[in-house]
Amino acid sequence: MASFVPPPAQPVPVAPVVAPVVDPNAAAQPMPAAVVAPPPNSADLTAKLQKLALERQSAQVADRLKIVQANPNSHLTSMTSFQEMNLPPLLLSGIFGMGFDKPSAIQAYSLPRILATPPMNLIAQAQSGSGKTAAFVLGMLYRVVVDEPATCQAVCVTPTRELAVQIVQNCLAPMSANIEGIRMRMGVSGEMISRGEGVGAHIVVGTPGKVCDWLKKRSINPTTVKVLVLDEADEMCNESSHRTNSLLIKKAMPPTCQCLFFSATFPKEVLDFAEKLVGQADKILISSDEELVLDVIKQLWIDTGTYQGGKRQFLEDMYSFLEIGQSIVFVETRKEADEVTQILNAKGYPCSVLHGKVENEERDRLMESFRVGQTKVLITTNVLARGVDIDNVCLVVNYDMPRQRNQETGVWSPDFETYLHRIGRTGRFGRKGTAINLVQDDNAKRTLAEIEQHFAPGKEMIAQCEADVEALADKVELS
Ligand code: ADP
Ligand code: MG
Repeated sequence: MASFVPPPAQPVPVAPVVAPVVDPNAAAQPMPAAVVAPPPNSADLTAKLQKLALERQSAQVADRLKIVQANPNSHLTSMTSFQEMNLPPLLLSGIFGMGFDKPSAIQAYSLPRILATPPMNLIAQAQSGSGKTAAFVLGMLYRVVVDEPATCQAVCVTPTRELAVQIVQNCLAPMSANIEGIRMRMGVSGEMISRGEGVGAHIVVGTPGKVCDWLKKRSINPTTVKVLVLDEADEMCNESSHRTNSLLIKKAMPPTCQCLFFSATFPKEVLDFAEKLVGQADKILISSDEELVLDVIKQLWIDTGTYQGGKRQFLEDMYSFLEIGQSIVFVETRKEADEVTQILNAKGYPCSVLHGKVENEERDRLMESFRVGQTKVLITTNVLARGVDIDNVCLVVNYDMPRQRNQETGVWSPDFETYLHRIGRTGRFGRKGTAINLVQDDNAKRTLAEIEQHFAPGKEMIAQCEADVEALADKVELS
């Protein structure tokens, strides 16, 4: 793609979140299907991939990470094993119970800081699928003192319902499975608390609107909160997304509250804001945008402008003729998402659609069914671009290229961060994946070229594949 000279340009929607107070002790009993590990025959493969991923991460770490210590005299470094980290035995057993042998690079570098005494703030960046969730979840669990009735001691805010549910069900609950009496609650749309009633949980994981609402109603008493986590922190601090609510939440917390901000992307302006918001913080940053792109994800683009029937037909043919494992298709608008879904379903290719207009319970049901592999294709908007971690997603399709509209000028431009987050729904923790960009017109070509230039200046990052489903099948493994 590298040499395309783009003509002039041209949207992107987002949306917000159920689940009752979760008693993670229930995790000791069989968890709901969504929480269990991959099928048994993939266990060996998973172990091998994890090992490879860990080796790769540690081999490149010195070139890749830039660590800025708030206190230059601090001697915190990285730890190569979980055992060295002074974690209480209950948390160690939680980690090993999840099948983690060794910390990933971001865990190795962030955990000594997260667990430090006195607590320190941290802004941390690491590639998609590299294990950021476990790092901040351990941070929250480490600080919580289990009491009864439960006082709220940690709050984690994420941009979407799906991510909040996933953090609780797939990380917080299994990680704290051995901690008796610990209570957690999802603060997502549909969760109701009467005025004056407390959340009744040690840890709240929620979306910004609901967390603000619970703070206003005093359901969350901020004075006892010791840890505030922003996951997808750049999105949380972005002026055009959740900045106002994030500010309100941060301001409500006591000055001593430890702030942990995590994301795979931190555009400069947002990072500057985040730094001001947290004050003194250590930073773990990826030294260049080029390092952000995972080499386990094969990126392709297909010129569907010349394909008879265009990108809709190409997508249809791709699903009809090729054996494809689980995949996510990103489109720009909810309407388009509904239309593409209808077309594929009508052609006998079952797929689900998830976007902000879908009812909460339906969103939960759809995610569950996709997570356990009952649904193979999910058509969605940017609402699922970030954070969603489903091992078996081997293909991401950008049906529409990600772009954003400047609120002041109204001008559209490529959305670099969203591109990276979208393709990062595959290639989780060292697995292989493919990202296919369907490029229908000059605007899309221009967006693609700018994205490539941004992440790989002067290089080819996204290879062209001819608009032919068989040629595509030869180029990539899709199942
Ligand atoms: P991200 O950095 O994108 O937030 P996640 O926290 O969602 O990534 O982690 C991606 C996957 O890696 C998850 O399925 C998680 O269970 C797995 N994982 C995290 N840490 C480890 C580890 N130390 N060893 C093995 N697998 C891990
Ligand atoms: Mg994440």
